[in-house]
Amino acid sequence: MDNRMTVIDGSFGEGGGQILRTSLALSLVTGRPFRMENIRAGREKPGLLRQHLAAVEAAAAVSGAAVRGNSIGSGRIEFEPGEVKGGEYRFAVGTAGSATLVFQSVLPALMLASEPSSVTLEGGTHNPWAPPFDFMQKVFLPALERMGPKVTLNLERCGFFPAGGGCFHARVEPAVKIERIDILERGQIKRRSVRALVACLPEHIGAREVDTVREKLGIDASDSSVSSVPSRGPGNVLIIEIESEGAMELVTGYGRRGVAAEEVAKEAVKEARGYLASGAPVGRHLADQLLIPMAIAGGGSFRTCAPTEHTRTNAEVIGRFLDIGVEIVQAGEFAWQVDVATRR
Ligand code: AMP
Repeated sequence: MDNRMTVIDGSFGEGGGQILRTSLALSLVTGRPFRMENIRAGREKPGLLRQHLAAVEAAAAVSGAAVRGNSIGSGRIEFEPGEVKGGEYRFAVGTAGSATLVFQSVLPALMLASEPSSVTLEGGTHNPWAPPFDFMQKVFLPALERMGPKVTLNLERCGFFPAGGGCFHARVEPAVKIERIDILERGQIKRRSVRALVACLPEHIGAREVDTVREKLGIDASDSSVSSVPSRGPGNVLIIEIESEGAMELVTGYGRRGVAAEEVAKEAVKEARGYLASGAPVGRHLADQLLIPMAIAGGGSFRTCAPTEHTRTNAEVIGRFLDIGVEIVQAGEFAWQVDVATRR
């Protein structure tokens, strides 16, 4: 394999699947091959899990890549991409692992391809520690669209842990050029709403979550709902949306065995309050996700809440593939300014 390969230590920083996904995404975009060692080395089950392998396989499929070490449990892979081609793809995680994360690995490449793509993704659609489908659709993609590409999503079926089996469809219309954007002001809050999705479980779980959030955040009944959704197995997600003049944020909480619905609601309320208190437009998850398209655009900036390890790790991985630096400076008691720019 190519000896110009970028070598990345998969255990640095956040040390999880994100280093791998960001590397796959940027390898596809730059055409630069990479080798990753110590993949998820500090984790309880180290190496590639089924969902990481699904991301590697998806990245290989869109680019005809040569790959070594792509097996479950592998702590080392080599990835040499070919030419990225848009088209029709179907990627299945095969477990309840996040399908949105698989999509994230290939989206930057597909949004730059010379032809549009239609992608079907199967697996988890609403997982803790991954972007829920609704977050991608309402928060990440609208920000991305301001940079040029047009991406539409349709949810066919929710997938929750442990049954999985969710499915969504994505249509990607590439852009000739990815434009820089700056998201610096939140402006006035225009609307706050709350809804609970419940699958194969009693609806009162969702109703109790929604009532607790409404009471704590003062949300109108007309801005709240509880729906039963189709899914292969039980699951429940609580979604709080905060729409302002300059931004959109979506906070989620997950119902789980042994945790009262009211507790799930309180956790989500705490996160929503953290976002509201920061005064910043970009929430903590959007922050790490925005860095990749902004780096591809060659620049961009935003204000956000306290940067996470994911944000710092993504900044580091970006610097390994592109001549781009990410500067993170505290700009207020709870707000940070992030600047993405070509390295001088
Ligand atoms: P990893 O932990 O390495 O698998 O990466 C998780 C990714 O999912 C990061 O890009 C996070 O920003 C994103 N993520 C995790 N939780 C959420 C959430 N509740 N809403 C949106 N994105 C999330």
